[in-house]
Amino acid sequence: MKTDISNYDAALERACATIAEQATPVDRDGAFPTASINALKAAGLLGAVSAKEVGGLGLGLAGAGRIVRRVGEECGSTAMVLTMHYCGAAVLEAYAPADVRRAAATGDHFSTLAFSESGSRSHFWSPVSTAVRDNGHIVLNAAKSWVTSASHSSAYVWSSRPVAAQGLSTIWLVPAGAAGLEVKGPFEGLGLRGNDSSPVVANNVHLPPSAMLGEDGKGFDIMMGVVLPMFAVLNAACSIGLMAAAVRRTVDHTSSTSHGDSASTLRDLPTIRNYIARMRMKTDMAEALLNDTVSALAAARPDATLRVLECKAAAGETANEVLDLAMRVCGGAAFRKDVAVERLFRDGRAAGVMAPTTDVLYEFIGKAVCGLPLF
Ligand SMILES: Cc1cc2nc3c(=O)[nH]c(=O)nc-3n(C[C@H](O)[C@H](O)[C@H](O)COP(=O)(O)OP(=O)(O)OC[C@H]3O[C@@H](n4cnc5c(N)ncnc54)[C@H](O)[C@@H]3O)c2cc1C
Repeated sequence: MKTDISNYDAALERACATIAEQATPVDRDGAFPTASINALKAAGLLGAVSAKEVGGLGLGLAGAGRIVRRVGEECGSTAMVLTMHYCGAAVLEAYAPADVRRAAATGDHFSTLAFSESGSRSHFWSPVSTAVRDNGHIVLNAAKSWVTSASHSSAYVWSSRPVAAQGLSTIWLVPAGAAGLEVKGPFEGLGLRGNDSSPVVANNVHLPPSAMLGEDGKGFDIMMGVVLPMFAVLNAACSIGLMAAAVRRTVDHTSSTSHGDSASTLRDLPTIRNYIARMRMKTDMAEALLNDTVSALAAARPDATLRVLECKAAAGETANEVLDLAMRVCGGAAFRKDVAVERLFRDGRAAGVMAPTTDVLYEFIGKAVCGLPLF
């Protein structure tokens, strides 16, 4: 059955059965979630942000957010890999030729962002890597510090300094197999262990000038106009999925575990219920802010940019609190894999250090509230 906007929920649930099954081995082995991504591809969901005219679902931010949230409930690694594909696909939608957009809509072209660098670190808006014109070619040199799906992407949406124009950056489409590229994997992380988030080095990578996405020197506008809203919303959705899963698993564990001396379950203790209430409230608060962010963007409200910054910071911070509570409430059992809150706890830590990091977002939000320029 072809997935369209009317039946994508059912398709998502089918894919989530595979994603749930794969989550433990993906985390245990630090393995890329190939079967999970294939299930999303088979369900047509890799085209969520791609336009219908190129075979996508045209669901926009709201639909992509719902998908990432649901996937995040089952597997944080898969949700973040999917987030990076959607972010890359959004840039391709705006700037790539139709054949690339069509391939991104089916998932035959699997995308990601290669923005962070060992030189500029989390200040992705100001890359230090270079793109130089040489004999009709563009030559890239870079030390990218983190690229999700580094060994599994078709091409990278890549940032560099401009070739000749003024501005902070230029964006490129760099084929993953280009000569001179080296992935420095495997990724051995604390959380999101299936993400294949490895460094990628470019050593005199030659590209045709047509690989430029948008105009020379206009990378900052693409990062802020296309990528930031998509990434902030989807990163927040991923955090909320992890929190929602933690609430569910905590309720399950505390409902099915009892103390022999009193014959009461953990859930019968008011202290435990109090913590569960806090977990649920914090999750709902982060989700309400995320939903308002999506509404603000859809209506082009004046506070839309502020909301974009807030939703990622709030969800990332709240995830740390909620997942910490899950560990506390589930007690010693939480240290074991079978209760499965410790994986959520580890996965949830990544959102806050993914750029713009939570501390950078506080800095931006503070500036915005004080009426100061962000940059
Ligand atoms: C699992 C994972 C997947 C990732 N995937 C990708 C990807 O696909 N593509 C990509 O481009 N990048 C990716 N990243 C990189 C990510 O976006 C950040 O760039 C990276 O995590 C920053 O780490 P760092 O050590 O370089 O941070 P640093 O920049 O060294 O920051 C260290 C600390 O200083 C704080 N800090 C830095 N600058 C400021 C400031 N101006 N004000 C206040 N505090 C500040 C930070 O908040 C942080 O707490 C990924 C990261 C992770 C963990």
